[in-house]
Amino acid sequence: MTSTDDVATSGCLFCQIVTGEIPADKVAENDDALAFRDLNPQAPTHVLIIPKVHSPTLPELAAEQPAAAVAVLLMAREVAESEGIVDGYRIAFNNGAGAQQTVFHAHAHVLGGREFTWPPG
Ligand code: AMP
Ligand code: ZN
Repeated sequence: MTSTDDVATSGCLFCQIVTGEIPADKVAENDDALAFRDLNPQAPTHVLIIPKVHSPTLPELAAEQPAAAVAVLLMAREVAESEGIVDGYRIAFNNGAGAQQTVFHAHAHVLGGREFTWPPG
């Protein structure tokens, strides 16, 4: 469910980062999306991009509010440029517990600054 109401967002860690109740090391922000550094970085650059509205995954958000999902991708592109990683960076979306999603508010991991392998683990 995509919502900005209190019932959907109460207790959501990333909604609390959007409201400022929980601090974050922000690197970009606009009306639709917010970028901040991951607390447990997996690469020299590891930035999370989140929509300001609550939705559990980005595909779910894309179905319900396509413009908000595009805003996340555009901010990923902006951050890749500002972080100087456009020559090789990875955008990862973990969708569901089976894919190691731990925070159920849509987010893109933008990773760069090191070599990557394929397939991912
Ligand atoms: P995922 O496992 O895809 O749900 O990713 C959640 C990410 O959020 C993990 O990489 C965590 O390290 C990161 N994380 C959790 N809490 C915070 C926080 N307060 N500030 C920044 N990153 C966080
Ligand atoms: Zn949320």
